[in-house]
Amino acid sequence: MTAVTEHSAAKTLNEQLGERDLAARLALVASLGGRAVFTTSLGIEDQVITAAIGLNRLPIDVATLETGRLFKETVDLIDETEERFGIEITRFHPQKDDLDEFIARYGLNGFYESVEARHACCGARKLKPLARALEGASFWITGLRRGQSGNRADTPFAEYDAERNLIKVNPLADWDLETINAYVADNAVPVNPLHARGYPSIGCEPCTRAIKPGEPERAGRWWWENDEKRECGLHVPEAAIPSLNSSSL
Ligand code: SF4
Repeated sequence: MTAVTEHSAAKTLNEQLGERDLAARLALVASLGGRAVFTTSLGIEDQVITAAIGLNRLPIDVATLETGRLFKETVDLIDETEERFGIEITRFHPQKDDLDEFIARYGLNGFYESVEARHACCGARKLKPLARALEGASFWITGLRRGQSGNRADTPFAEYDAERNLIKVNPLADWDLETINAYVADNAVPVNPLHARGYPSIGCEPCTRAIKPGEPERAGRWWWENDEKRECGLHVPEAAIPSLNSSSL
């Protein structure tokens, strides 16, 4: 399929998804043909999507990026979630050569020293494993919500991702936290205990802190950086991350 037809398909899908509930949104994507992959970070939004896939037995692959720097609570939750919903969550790990190269150049925790080093670490531990997780996929399902941060405020239900040549689907784009919490309670969805300790958004342990009352949901991610639009690179075009392009990682 060409980029033009993919754009057009994504636009049509975006309109169709808005009219459906979560299970129907996911079922529609699964029915379109082509491999659909959901990547979960085990955050509360992602747990809702995993629950909907598992409870409705939808033919969608579930994958996670096991970066090697996750909280123990997050790693434990992978097993618990598989058991609760009877599904398999495929773990994608960073490759040793990439980690060796990063550590030799920046040091294990060199990501605190510069944005370039931080993007290089995310490149090795997240972006490269993500590329492997999405190999051959036609659809990439994520738990992005418009309410998570200012730069996610325009998140569509579906959009063409030219870089990865697939359609990215965000079935919770219009959900608020209240709706998320209600779904979790109604469906006995296991959630990361860190959420109750002030971590609404949970990534790698050295790069995530609890937030203070009134702070934005993602204020605890890479808190030492000043850029309001800080992201790990999973959900921004690679061209917008100069240090990833200049790095071999
Ligand atoms: S979030 Fe932190 S530890 Fe995790 S991959 Fe990115 S820089 Fe590395």
